Amino acid sequence: MVGLYLVLYIPQKQKVAGSYPPELGIVKRFWKYLLNREGIDEDILWASISSNSLMSVAALLKQCSFIIKGKISLKTMESRIKSRLFFAGEVLNVDGITGGFNFQNAWSGGYIAGTSIGKMAATSASSLEKQAM
Ligand SMILES: Cc1cc2nc3c(=O)[nH]c(=O)nc-3n(C[C@H](O)[C@H](O)[C@H](O)COP(=O)(O)OP(=O)(O)OC[C@H]3O[C@@H](n4cnc5c(N)ncnc54)[C@H](O)[C@@H]3O)c2cc1C
Repeated sequence: MVGLYLVLYIPQKQKVAGSYPPELGIVKRFWKYLLNREGIDEDILWASISSNSLMSVAALLKQCSFIIKGKISLKTMESRIKSRLFFAGEVLNVDGITGGFNFQNAWSGGYIAGTSIGKMAATSASSLEKQAM
């Protein structure tokens, strides 16, 4: 269906980066990201795009996966560089390809960081108790 939208859309004299089917409901920034990811020149005209490129963009639109990597462990929100240092929310400056979801990032990250700190504190307290005995 997505591939069909692309094929039916093709405005011959426009650049691929500047126009795309409105039915897809995506933002321009994400569209450009898809083109770059597929190695498609932003300045190429729709008339010149190969059917292989069209199919690969359509496939990406249907199933686009992302690799998340960074200096924070997402399981605990602890810094991988400085142990016992945790981060959550706006300070991480999370920048998704489509933007948004900042509240969810702040709430989920805050919950993970808070529970991780709680577990760490409980472990430290029990080992201190054992040492004192
Ligand atoms: C105008 C606007 C609109 C937004 N709309 C959306 C939206 O629609 N959807 C969405 O998902 N996100 C939106 N965001 C982003 C969202 O508000 C933030 O990502 C989120 O609030 C971050 O939460 P936080 O707890 O990390 O930081 P904040 O909410 O900024 O909380 C930080 C708190 O720390 C306090 N503080 C700062 N320095 C100190 C200090 N030295 N000592 C003690 N306290 C301190 C501040 O007073 C503040 O209360 C919007 C942001 C803005 C500015």
